[in-house]
Amino acid sequence: MNRKSIFIAIFLGLICLFSILLIQYIWIKKALSSQHTEIQLQMRKDSLNAIEFQQKVQGALRETSIKIALLNNDVSDRYGTVRRVQNNLFYVEFQGDLQKDFLINTLTREFDRMSVTNDFVVGLYNCYKNDVQYSHLIKFTGDRLFEKTNISIAHPSFYFTNESHYFAIYFPTVIPKNVDLSEDLGSPWVFLVMVCLLILVYLTYSILIIIRQKKLADIKTDFINNMTHELKTPIATIKLSSTALLSNDFSDDNDRLQRYASIIYSENKRLEEQVERVLTIAKMDKQSTPLKKAIVDIHDFIEEAHETFEMNLEEIGGSFQLSMKAKSHVLYVDSVHIKNVIFNLLDNAIKYRREDVPIQLVVATENDKKNLIIHITDNGVGIDKSDVKYIFDKFYRVPKGDVHDVKGFGLGLYYVKNIIEQHGGTIQIKSEKGKGSTFTITLPLKRIE
Ligand code: ADP
Repeated sequence: MNRKSIFIAIFLGLICLFSILLIQYIWIKKALSSQHTEIQLQMRKDSLNAIEFQQKVQGALRETSIKIALLNNDVSDRYGTVRRVQNNLFYVEFQGDLQKDFLINTLTREFDRMSVTNDFVVGLYNCYKNDVQYSHLIKFTGDRLFEKTNISIAHPSFYFTNESHYFAIYFPTVIPKNVDLSEDLGSPWVFLVMVCLLILVYLTYSILIIIRQKKLADIKTDFINNMTHELKTPIATIKLSSTALLSNDFSDDNDRLQRYASIIYSENKRLEEQVERVLTIAKMDKQSTPLKKAIVDIHDFIEEAHETFEMNLEEIGGSFQLSMKAKSHVLYVDSVHIKNVIFNLLDNAIKYRREDVPIQLVVATENDKKNLIIHITDNGVGIDKSDVKYIFDKFYRVPKGDVHDVKGFGLGLYYVKNIIEQHGGTIQIKSEKGKGSTFTITLPLKRIE
């Protein structure tokens, strides 16, 4: 899958996602608006029912109040004796005596006459005794019948506060005020947002996996190309030399015979070493390399490398400076691997030089409290920020289109990092594309194990 197909797949995926979300949005919006209309209708119906209920209750209570007044020969004005405190709570003022049985009988008869069929609590208050004499639930049992119960129901505290006699009627099953059901309408949106987030997370995750897979596939292809390229040259040389040996008679030209044989031998050795090196590093995992540690002077290694590389630089031109300021430079390390690390980094500095400027190499050492720090700086091609984070990965090479002008397998820095970490150290890089790079190795001073 190439880069273009990945982008097309991502683009199509996003279009599908947004289409699904748009359809969802339209559906939910439609469903909500019809639900809203339904709720409004229901609320209107409920409020009409509530008004009707209150009129019936107030009618029945007024009749009850008149009957109580008649019983007590009370001829005072009955206006305002029935009061609605809430949709489900009423109280009625009266003068004189009132038997609870008379009250209950009159109330049930009047409620029945007005077709009020809800359970209710009747509370009777005697202001002389400042006491609630009766407060019980009367249940509607169907067939136009009410039944007294012994269930005592706590009533709101504002029932009996005045200085006259009252009885209060409370309907526990009636909602005290109209509930605004539209408050619940937020939930589908929360759900939709959650679904969107989930899909986005899933999509991002999938895209990251696709990109990672593509990177791995590129690395693999790159590795195979490099390997083929690296192996082809010695194989071709061996083939040429052996063909020459086979097709000619060199029995009287011992020198040429020797030359061809040694070419075959050395190319074969190179081949073997290369395959061995690649396989060893490719198999290498953290902690897998057995280290043979000894006390060594790192400055000696650096000086040795300086001599070797200065000779190389004579051919290609450039300078190699040392700035060894570290006072403690004797460490307990595996000399072969640490030497390889230094040589690898210097090798890279030369491999990845800029053709248009003379190479400038600097190796500097210093100490902090616990470490020896080695900086290897070059003025080469540098590495882009987006690649820096990968360069220590196995097989990773900075992509340069289809053709790599510098040979390699992307194993050198992986090996370097691995070895340094096995010595308890760290390696970091600062690089600027087109300007150069600095690799900084930190190795602990005392690590004798
Ligand atoms: P190789 O050199 O075999 O490709 P390495 O692991 O040594 O593998 O390096 C990985 C990549 O890091 C290289 O392909 C190269 O692009 C980049 N690189 C390493 N060292 C340098 C350097 N000194 N300057 C610029 N780029 C570098």
